[in-house]
Amino acid sequence: MYLAELTLSVRRLRGVGPSLATLLDRLGVQSCKDLLLLMPRDYEDRTRRVGLREAVDRQIPALTTGQVLAAGYFGNRRAVLKLRFVDHLGQEGSLLCFNRDFLKDKYPVGARFHLYGTVQEQYRELQLAQFEISPSTDRFPDPPGLGTILPIYPSTAGLKQASLRKAVDAALLLLTDLTEEIPGAIREKFGIRGWKEILWDIHKPPSLERAMQARRELAFRELWFLIGNILRERHLRSSVRLESHPLPRTLFSRAVRQLSFSLTAGQTAAINDILGDLESGRCMARLLQGDVGAGKTLVAVLSVVPLLEEGHQVAFLAPTELLAQQHHANIRRLLEPLGVGVGLLTASTDPTDRAAILRDIANGTITLAVGTHSLLSPDIPWKDLSCVIVDEQHRFGVRQRELLIKQGRAKHLLMLSATPIPRSLALSVFGDLDVTVLPGLPPGRQPLSTYLVNLTHVARVWEFLRKRLAEGQQAYVVVPLIEESETRNLTPLLAAFDQVRAAFPDTRVAMIHGRMKDDEKTATMRDFVRGDIAILCATSVIEVGVDVPNATCMVIYHSEVFGLSALHQLRGRVGRGSKPGHCFLVYAEPLTEEAKERLKIVRETTDGFELAERDLALRGPGEFLGVRQSGFVRLRAADWKRDADLLLAIRDELIASFQTDPQGDWVAHLRNGTLFPIEETP
Ligand code: ADP
Ligand code: MG
Repeated sequence: MYLAELTLSVRRLRGVGPSLATLLDRLGVQSCKDLLLLMPRDYEDRTRRVGLREAVDRQIPALTTGQVLAAGYFGNRRAVLKLRFVDHLGQEGSLLCFNRDFLKDKYPVGARFHLYGTVQEQYRELQLAQFEISPSTDRFPDPPGLGTILPIYPSTAGLKQASLRKAVDAALLLLTDLTEEIPGAIREKFGIRGWKEILWDIHKPPSLERAMQARRELAFRELWFLIGNILRERHLRSSVRLESHPLPRTLFSRAVRQLSFSLTAGQTAAINDILGDLESGRCMARLLQGDVGAGKTLVAVLSVVPLLEEGHQVAFLAPTELLAQQHHANIRRLLEPLGVGVGLLTASTDPTDRAAILRDIANGTITLAVGTHSLLSPDIPWKDLSCVIVDEQHRFGVRQRELLIKQGRAKHLLMLSATPIPRSLALSVFGDLDVTVLPGLPPGRQPLSTYLVNLTHVARVWEFLRKRLAEGQQAYVVVPLIEESETRNLTPLLAAFDQVRAAFPDTRVAMIHGRMKDDEKTATMRDFVRGDIAILCATSVIEVGVDVPNATCMVIYHSEVFGLSALHQLRGRVGRGSKPGHCFLVYAEPLTEEAKERLKIVRETTDGFELAERDLALRGPGEFLGVRQSGFVRLRAADWKRDADLLLAIRDELIASFQTDPQGDWVAHLRNGTLFPIEETP
C-alpha cells in the first residue's frame, strides 16, 4: 500500500467527531494521509524535568513539579494573584496568575502541582506569567508528557493541540509498512528511512535531533516528487521526435541586415541556442532570461523568422493588452518590409477586424500573431502553429506552463523573463525548461541614477521633475496601494495623485491602476505614450514591459515595501531613450536598518541577477519577486533556502535516473506526488 492510498477519512479515527473533523478540514486535512502529512510547526521538549534556574540560564521552558509556599496579591490595586512556590530542585519562584484568580483555591499553600512554561528573571525573582499547570497526585506523579517531545501543529480557532495529537496518534497506528515510491538505492544513498519511521519521528520524536532528521527526510521526499514531476514533463517532451532539418536563413539575414544597430554577442548566442532547438528535431521549451531592456523581444522574433520563412506560424503572447499593442507595432516595423504577415488579436479587437484576422490566420496570410492569452483559445483556426512565445513569463506558474504546452498545439515554447531567477529556483520550479541567459544591455544605453529620498524631502524631487518636464520629458510616480489601508500607514495612490496634482497645477497628470477597466487603462497609456500626459501616477501595473523612451524619471513612494527585484523592474521603465534616467526611491520614516540597507543595495546595484540573489538571501523565496509574483510553489516540509543543497543533489539524481532507467517503476510512482500537491501562490 502507498501512503497516497491512505484516503480513509479522519472521521473514521477514534476520538474524531464531526466538530473536530470540521476544524481539521479548515487546515486542509480530510484523510488520514493529510493528517499524517500535517507538519508540526514546532516542538515542546518535555523529555526531562527542567528546573527554574536552568530554564532561565538556557532560555528553555521549565518543566517541574513544585509546591505552593504562599499566596498574595500585587500590581495595580493589588489585583493580580501571585503564588510563591518551590520547584523540584528547591529553587523558589513565582507564578503571576493574570485573570486566573481561581488558582488560589485550586492550589492552596502546600499543594503540589506540575508546571510547564517560560521563566523570566525580573525584580530578582524567577517568574512565570504564561504556564500550564496541573495537580500532582498519586495517580499523576509526573508532569504531562514527561519523557516525550510534543509536536505543536499549525492550528485554527477552537482546535486544541491535545485533540489534534490524539487524532494523529490514531492515524499513526494505521501505518503499516508502506510501499516506497523512491528507489531503495537512492534512499540508501541519502539516508532516507521508510515512511513509517519518518512519520513516527515527525509526530512522536524521541529527541529533537530525530525530529529534525525526519523533517529533512520528508523534505527530500517532497522535493523528489516536485522536481521529479517537472523533469518528467521535460523528459516526455524531449522523447517526442520531430522531423529535423536545417531551416532557411534568407529572411533572417535580411532582417538582421536592416537593423539600425548590430546585435550584441549575447543576442547572437541566444539566437543560436534557440535556432539550435528548432533544428534539433525535438520540441523546444526554453526560458530566455535577461535584464530589463536587454533586447529579448528582438532575440525572440529574429529566432523564429526561419520558421516563418518555411510557412509555419508563431503566436507571440504578451501579459497585457498594452504590451501586445506595443509589441505588435515594433514587430510589424521589423517584419512587414520582409513580407511577413503580422496580426494583432486581443480581447478588445472589434468583431469585424477579429473575423478578418481569424480568416488570415486560417489561410496563413498572417504568420506571426501577437496577442494576449486569448491567442491560446482553442477556437483560433491556426493553419500551422509551430511556436508560442510568451513574454514576461514569470507570471505563468508551473501549472499554467504545463497547460500551455499540453493544450497549445505548438511544438515549441519560448518564454521570456526579465525577472532574474536565482539558480536554485531556476533549477527546480523552472526545471522543465532549458535556460538561456542574455547578459548585459545593448551598448549606448543611457545611465540610470537611483537616489534615496526621505518622504519629508519629496518637494526637492518635484523641483527636479519640473526641470525635466520643462524639457519635454515625462515621469512616472509609483505607489504600492490604491486605497487607504488600515494595517499600513502608506500614502495611497489617490493621495499621491492629489499631491502630484497640487505640485504640478499646470501639468497634465493622470492615474492608472489595476482596478481600472482594460480599455480605460489602454487609453490612458496611449495618451502617455503620445506625450499628452506628462506625469503618470500608477500602482505597479506598469512594472511589466512598458516602453516609453521619453519617460526619464520615476518616483517610487514607499519604496521600502517593494522587493528588490520589483524595484529593479520598475526603474527599468525609465532611461530607455536618448536621455539619462532618474529613479527616486522615496521612503517614509521610521525605517528599520535592514530596510534602509535593502534600499541602498538597490541604489548601488545595477545588475538584476545580483539583486535577485540578494533579494532571495534577505527575504527568502516566499517574498522573492515581490507581492505580485504568481506561480510560486509553496513547500510544506522543505524550505527553499535551508534545503537548497538537497534540491540540487536530488535534481542530479533524477536526471541520472531518467537517463539510466527511464521506464522504471519509480517514474510511474512519481504520480504519487499528489501527496504534496503543487500549491501556487495566487
Ligand atoms: P526587454 O529585454 O526588456 O524585453 P526590449 O526587447 O524591450 O527589452 O528592448 C529594449 C530596446 O532595446 C528596444 O527598443 C530594442 O529595439 C533595443 N535593442 C535591442 N537590441 C539592441 C541592440 N543590439 N542594440 C541597440 N538597441 C537594441
Ligand atoms: Mg520585454
